[in-house]
Formats: sequence, C-alpha cells, structure tokens
Amino acid sequence: MSTSLRRHGPDSNRAPFRRVVVTGGCGFVGSHLCDLLLDSGVDVVCVDNFLTGTEDNVVHRQLDDRFELMVHDVTDAIPIPGEVDLVLHLASPASPQDYLRLPVQTLRAGSLGTFSALELAREKKARFVLASTSEVYGDPLEHPQRESYWGNVNPVGPRSVYDEAKRFAEAATTAYRAEHGVDTAIVRIFNTFGPRMRAEDGRAVPNFIRQALAGEPLTVTGDGSQTRSLCYVGDTVRGILAVAAGSHPGPVNLGNPAETTVLELAHLVRELTGSAAPVEFVDRPVDDPERRRPDIALAWEQFGWKPETDPRKGLSTTIDWFAAQLNDTAVRER
Ligand code: NAD
Ligand code: UDP
Repeated sequence: MSTSLRRHGPDSNRAPFRRVVVTGGCGFVGSHLCDLLLDSGVDVVCVDNFLTGTEDNVVHRQLDDRFELMVHDVTDAIPIPGEVDLVLHLASPASPQDYLRLPVQTLRAGSLGTFSALELAREKKARFVLASTSEVYGDPLEHPQRESYWGNVNPVGPRSVYDEAKRFAEAATTAYRAEHGVDTAIVRIFNTFGPRMRAEDGRAVPNFIRQALAGEPLTVTGDGSQTRSLCYVGDTVRGILAVAAGSHPGPVNLGNPAETTVLELAHLVRELTGSAAPVEFVDRPVDDPERRRPDIALAWEQFGWKPETDPRKGLSTTIDWFAAQLNDTAVRER
C-alpha cells in the first residue's frame, strides 16, 4: 500500500498518527478506512450508531486489539479517553434513499455531529478531516467542478437536507480552524463505489448490480443521459488518508474524473455480469444533478493523489463481492 501515515508537507517532522477516531466507521467508506488504518499499524476507534451502517462491515476486525468499536450517536458529545491524533468524521447518511428517509437525522449528523467531532479534535489537539461531498456543488453550473466553485443548491429541495448539512459542516470546520486553531481539512468526495455498499441502499451501482444479477430490469432514471464520475473505494480512502497526513486545509476534491452517463453505466454492468436483463426507464428524482466530474488538480499537486483503479476493474471486483454476498444469503436461507 503506497499510503504513508507519516505526516508530510510542513509538518513532516511531526510524529506519525498512532490512534485515529473514525466516525461512521461501520459504513461503506468508513469501514474501508478502518481497514487501511489498521493495516498501516495505527490504532482505530470506530464510532457508529448503525443508523445506515452495520457491524458486519468491521466484524473481521473485532479480535484485533488495536480496534475499538464504540456504539454511539455522534450528535451527542463523543467521550473518548486517552490520546487521539486524528479524527476522521464520516458519520452521516450518504445515499439519497437514506437521507430522504432520514431528513432530520441527516441534518443533525451534519450539524451537531460535526460539532461533536470538532470538539473531540479540539480537546485532543488532533487533526480533523471532514468527509464532505460533491453534493455541495448541487446541480453544478461549472463543469468539471473545481474547489473554487460555490455550487448551485436548492435550499428547500428534497436533497437539501444532505447538501446543506454538508455545507454547514464545511462552515463549522472552517470556523473551528479560525476561532479555535484546530488543524482541519475538508475533502469533497465524489461518487464512490465498491464492496460493502448495501444492496438495497438505492444508489445506482448497487441497484444495477443487484438487478442484473437477479435478471430484473435495470432501473435507469430519466433518459440516463445524466453523468457521474465513479471512483473505486480503495482510491477514495487512500486519498482521505493522504489529505489527513498533510497540513493543507482544503477543500480538496477526491474522485475519478472518468465521466460516464448513467445509461452507459447500466450497460457496462449488464456486460460485466453477463446479464440479459433489460433496461427500464423510470422517473428521474427531483433536483437530480445533471453532470458531475471532479477537477482533481489540487489533490495531485498537493498530495500526489490520483485514482489508480480503472472503474471497469473496480466494477468487476464489486460485482464479484455482491455475487458472493447473494450466494451466502441464499445458502443461509436454504
Ligand atoms: P454509509 O451510510 O455507508 O456510512 C455512514 C455511517 O455513518 C454508517 O455506518 C452510519 O451508521 C453512521 N452514522 C450515521 N449517522 C450517525 C450518527 N448520528 N452517529 C453515529 N454514526 C452515524 O455512507 P458512506 O457511503 O460510507 O459515506 C460515508 C461518508 O462519506 C458520509 O459522510 C458521506 O457523506 C461521505 N461521502 C460518501 C460518498 C459515497 O459515494 N459513498 C460520496 C461523498 C461523500
Ligand atoms: N439512478 C438510476 N437508477 C437507480 C439509482 C440511481 O438511474 O436505480 C441515477 C440517479 O437518478 C442519478 C445517478 O443514477 O442520476 C446516480 O445516483 P446515485 O444515487 O448513485 O448517486 P447521487 O445521486 O448521489 O450522485
């Protein structure tokens, strides 16, 4: 693994991280982060209340005495004894289906949850990294999106509970840096996919894979001409740790600039699964962004980070994982 948890940039003489708190560590991205940290020799405290994640994602780590799981809602203060060098704040519903189902909890995770995580970093004199999102750009009028773009968000639309919570979280992070001197960073993560996404979480990749494997129609919204840029989770977590190990405050885009239409994605999943399932066009959600592609020049210049996994290869790995999961479930139900 090329990621080093030694500090770089102006702080390269500081000690490497020894103990890291990952809020939302039982979720899709957070559990991969826990794995990468533990594999790098760092102690991990995972804080999660299983709102949208599951203990299954970290169960393989539970005999590791460098791993602690704290079942806790981050909208309350996060009481962690001992030293902490780094707080990675990921706790929040992230799939549109989840945040539309949990609007108030999403706003609370982004606001109160971010304050709790920032307070923890302040108390421990730890570096703090906020997992923000490309959704802060809303339905972007600038393409590709650079960090300097302020976004185009409908503050009263259905997606606003997520978009505005993350915009608030970015503002709170910036305020703690200015007022309390907390060493903060913001990463804006673009669509990420990989093993451990929930088959039912409603996002395009798990939906298409689940549907293709079951021989059911792949539900493409609108005419499928809207675009997304998909990044494999291994690249995303490597990017988060690269930013964490530096001293730059961000915001920093993390994503794969390879842009695809949703219809192309559906056809690629059909091809890679060998499925003959048809495509079915269904209604497009309200305020669904039209185009999305990150400009990742800053991540490359500051951290030497860029995605390394070909999306096609990443999709094959993800399909294999989903197929194995479905197989396990079928065996258990027999
Ligand atoms: P996820 O739903 O799989 O994981 C989120 C985790 O946070 C879950 O384990 C959930 O139980 C936990 N959580 C939620 N509210 C909590 C609370 N109040 N207290 C404690 N734990 C709580 O989502 P994900 O895809 O892994 O996303 C993780 C983070 O990355 C989120 O902050 C999300 O906004 C950000 N992000 C993800 C993507 C992506 O494509 N997956 C893109 C942009 C940003
Ligand atoms: N989408 C789709 N079929 C699905 C789920 C999603 O066509 O079964 C579309 C969705 O409308 C959006 C794109 O795929 O245009 C990406 O959606 P996703 O929920 O994965 O991510 P986000 O909207 O957060 O970018």
